[in-house]
Amino acid sequence: MFDLNQFANLIPKAVLEAKEQEQKILMNGTPLSDSQIEDAKIIPVKYPERVRLLRVNQIPLPEDPELKFAAQAIQFIIPNTRGLTLQYGIFVKNDYWNNRELIVHELIHTSQYERLGGIQQFLNQYLTECIQFGYPQAPLEQEAIKKSELICT
Ligand SMILES: [Zn+2]
Repeated sequence: MFDLNQFANLIPKAVLEAKEQEQKILMNGTPLSDSQIEDAKIIPVKYPERVRLLRVNQIPLPEDPELKFAAQAIQFIIPNTRGLTLQYGIFVKNDYWNNRELIVHELIHTSQYERLGGIQQFLNQYLTECIQFGYPQAPLEQEAIKKSELICT
């Protein structure tokens, strides 16, 4: 079992892995469409032109065994996970590739990375909130859920 301190100790490793994954998506992903850029501006995302989407069959789990265990333990990445945002790199599960609400949801996370100042700052706050409140009750997650509903309905 994990306690809070053990979880917190994993954050630096999570930051490194997130940076690697972001680079992978930026190299292999596709830019936002015109309508996705419009949505990004409403949120607002500061630099929508930097965003890349990478279509995958399943959101990849971290390679590091401890991170992998933690991601599954807090239900952060499970087989049903629809998307994962690593700053400007967004993994999108196959079935949700054309799902506007999911893309808007993930773009709201991009705007949070921008607001907080980058991968390290975002993950530090986001993962701490997940430890404190649980996922998806974390305030940053709730912001993405509520705002994407508002924009898409
Ligand atoms: Zn989310």
